[in-house]
Amino acid sequence: MDKHTQLIHDPRLAPIQINSLQPPVYRASTIIFDNTQALFQRHWSDRYDYSYGTHGTPTTYLLADQMARLEGGNHALLAPSGLAAIVLVNTALLGQGDEVWVTENMYSPNLEHLRELQKRYGVVIKIYDPLDAKSFQPTPACKLIWLEAAGSVTLEFPDLQGLIKIAKEHHVCIALDSTWGAGLAYSPFDLDGASVDICVHALTKYPSGGGDVLMGSIVTQDEALHKQLLRMHALLGFSISGDDCARVYRSLPTLALRYATQSKSAIELLAHLKHEPAFAQVLHPANPDTLGHHFWQQNCPTGLSAGLVSVVFDERYAWADVCRFCDALKIFKLGFSWGSATSLVMLYDLTKMRTLPSLHLQGRYVVRFCVGLEAPKDLIDDIKTALGSLNYDEKSK
Ligand SMILES: *Cc1c(COP(=O)(O)O)cnc(C)c1O
Repeated sequence: MDKHTQLIHDPRLAPIQINSLQPPVYRASTIIFDNTQALFQRHWSDRYDYSYGTHGTPTTYLLADQMARLEGGNHALLAPSGLAAIVLVNTALLGQGDEVWVTENMYSPNLEHLRELQKRYGVVIKIYDPLDAKSFQPTPACKLIWLEAAGSVTLEFPDLQGLIKIAKEHHVCIALDSTWGAGLAYSPFDLDGASVDICVHALTKYPSGGGDVLMGSIVTQDEALHKQLLRMHALLGFSISGDDCARVYRSLPTLALRYATQSKSAIELLAHLKHEPAFAQVLHPANPDTLGHHFWQQNCPTGLSAGLVSVVFDERYAWADVCRFCDALKIFKLGFSWGSATSLVMLYDLTKMRTLPSLHLQGRYVVRFCVGLEAPKDLIDDIKTALGSLNYDEKSK
């Protein structure tokens, strides 16, 4: 046999399975069938009929199964990003003229996708107030409600029990973006007597923990619903690299430790930031001043929360001051996303993001701190030094 051919047709005599701590990583587009009979007997939707890389490998199933366990569901699908997981749910569940309910404080690219479905297929988007379940009034055309706990940027914790109750009465499918909770602060399928139908999680954040992988998961309990999502998953051609799965899988054993540490550090930050006169409000579900604090207490009895703390700048500060503050931070890096060891910061002008007046917010400029694993004192000092560059004492005179 030619050496060239030999290098392609490796007889693979070395043992391929050893008892390593980490499982082997399967990288596959093509999966070989032993013969035509095997080819005809396999069906892509049966997870153990490995047939083609997009439908799954032992590596993708290992991670998916861990995610299902973490969230307390029975089935999990993986998507190429958190946003892709959201898009999968919207695309699988919404058709022409269907109604979907969302909040103002939801992860905004989800709303952008829904607006596209509105333009193309006449999907009707309705907005509810996450703290007032009665504002959710589904019509018979309603197919889906999106919950997010806590809300993006301003971190209000919603009335999950109230909203879920109404959705169940109207047979509306309930999807929860649980990225903030990470499967640890609350249990999406066991929420003080209530349960969602679909749990979407951006694994890009805490599960990855490294700021180097994009991935999402979709966890369900109901098999029929899982199959409906699985079908759309295959139609969209979503696939995940085995190497990325292995990276996230390797990070999962430290997830609870990292989450608890970031949760504790964020509380320390919160306690200090409350005394800074530059900030009109400090937003965090554990802060009794933040809307939805009692819903957080009800749903997160362990007292855990993600490492996100947002501050509303006092009205005497201009956008340029807020930019100067962010530029002056040294340990907090300016960047999107969160969940890695590195603390991040992002700034927002709320008037550009929200249409309804957010009555509880006492200013328009918000800075969100995403607490990493650095020592809390260093983070607090970093913020104090950056505030110093604003000369706020002079301004407050
Ligand atoms: C980051 C995030 C997403 C999207 O995840 P990507 O992997 O960045 O696409 C979705 N929902 C929430 C709440 C997020 O924070």
